[in-house]
Amino acid sequence: MTFTARKNPETRTVAVIGAGAAGMMAAVQAARQGSRVLLFERNDRPGKKLRITGKGRCNLTNDCDREEFLNHIPTNPRFLYPAISGFSPQDTMQFFEELGVPLKTERGRRVFPVSDRAQDIVDALERECHALNIAFLHERVTGIRTTKGRAIGVSTASGNYDADAVILCTGGVSYPGTGSTGDGYRFAKETGHTVMQPTPSLVPLVEMGKFCAGMQGLSLRNIAFRIVKTEDEKTIYDDFGELLFTHFGLSGPVVLSASAHLSDITPGKYEARIDLKPALDEKKLDQRLLSDFAKYRNRDFSNALGDLLPQKLIAPMIARSGIDPSKKVHSVTREEREGLGRLIKCLRIPLLGFRPIDEAIITRGGICVKEVNPGTMESKLMPGLYFAGEILDVDGYTGGFNLQIAFSTAVLAGIHAARGADTNPKREDKTE
Ligand SMILES: Cc1cc2nc3c(=O)[nH]c(=O)nc-3n(C[C@H](O)[C@H](O)[C@H](O)COP(=O)(O)OP(=O)(O)OC[C@H]3O[C@@H](n4cnc5c(N)ncnc54)[C@H](O)[C@@H]3O)c2cc1C
Repeated sequence: MTFTARKNPETRTVAVIGAGAAGMMAAVQAARQGSRVLLFERNDRPGKKLRITGKGRCNLTNDCDREEFLNHIPTNPRFLYPAISGFSPQDTMQFFEELGVPLKTERGRRVFPVSDRAQDIVDALERECHALNIAFLHERVTGIRTTKGRAIGVSTASGNYDADAVILCTGGVSYPGTGSTGDGYRFAKETGHTVMQPTPSLVPLVEMGKFCAGMQGLSLRNIAFRIVKTEDEKTIYDDFGELLFTHFGLSGPVVLSASAHLSDITPGKYEARIDLKPALDEKKLDQRLLSDFAKYRNRDFSNALGDLLPQKLIAPMIARSGIDPSKKVHSVTREEREGLGRLIKCLRIPLLGFRPIDEAIITRGGICVKEVNPGTMESKLMPGLYFAGEILDVDGYTGGFNLQIAFSTAVLAGIHAARGADTNPKREDKTE
């Protein structure tokens, strides 16, 4: 069966695949241009991933300027220049405030709803979609329909839908339980596009060995964290903040952020180095150890570190230090004490690799941006087909950059899909 949504021949119909952050924004923009919009979502409700962003608080953007923004995009930042220029973080903030969501800015210019509820962002987008009469179709799209080299609609299990333009916003393959299972990559390949290998980014790191497993569940705030390339001792990433030990290795904010800076991770190539006491230099730490050792001089060494380190860390650190845990504190030598100090300042965790992509916050890779017009988000290979959001081969660090990428690319895609302007220089070559 074919569904023809067009009533007035003047009105363009835009089909949007995926009602995530990008899809809902693209739908709103296309409808605001006067298009009839069909928004396809395989889940019962839109914005399933958006609802869990920022630990349920939704860090929707980063209130920085364009140059600063692009400095936080490790993959293809130049491609995003027109999108971020056209719809900036400040435009995102204005957009949501106008939809009735008050916002606040926290450390690192991270922007959240005042309510700390990601659901408010989803609700605002959904309300606006309804106000604009966007048709929500809770169906899984199975393919993009094409004729003579251009996109003319979508197919679902219930039939074919006609459209003047199609916007593909199916996200990546991370957290597949939210609906992002990579369908869009298949559609893109079927329509002649290159999909750059999807790999995890903003993902926990697996250690070599079992050191972290012994401290599973322990979260440390205010540590200094570095990733070093072992072959040349080059520091790849340097941060300060919170870290979590897990049964497989390391997670938590500084670790996820660090992962975005690592490429072609192979066993042993990188080492995490943790400074457990960044507020104390080596000399001050040694004084602190001396004073604790004086206080507990007649105890076993295993009972002397409770004032300095969290309980779960003590046994593994003692094992690493090589000092006999049953030795009396007063007989710990100066060399042993100084060695312990060095260990506390630089705990080394050799890394094996990333956790699987389905545990990643972001999928790196996706539609090759050379095949997409950066000023419109239209495919250079298939007129009438547009892309927005995580499906594109762009990604950002933590801090609201990834949702801003979704919003900015979606605004361009929505507006240009609705206008159908002939902005693609290669269009004439490719159409009938
Ligand atoms: C736990 C977590 C926390 C995060 N926190 C933040 C944060 O605080 N700030 C930030 O900037 N970024 C954050 N991100 C990243 C951010 O969520 C994504 O970058 C963003 O959601 C991408 O939006 P999208 O619309 O491109 O894709 P998605 O949000 O993945 O949406 C894609 C939609 O397409 C639908 N779909 C897929 N296939 C089909 C099909 N065949 N037919 C119909 N529908 C289909 C899916 O069901 C889904 O609803 C977080 C990610 C995770 C996993």
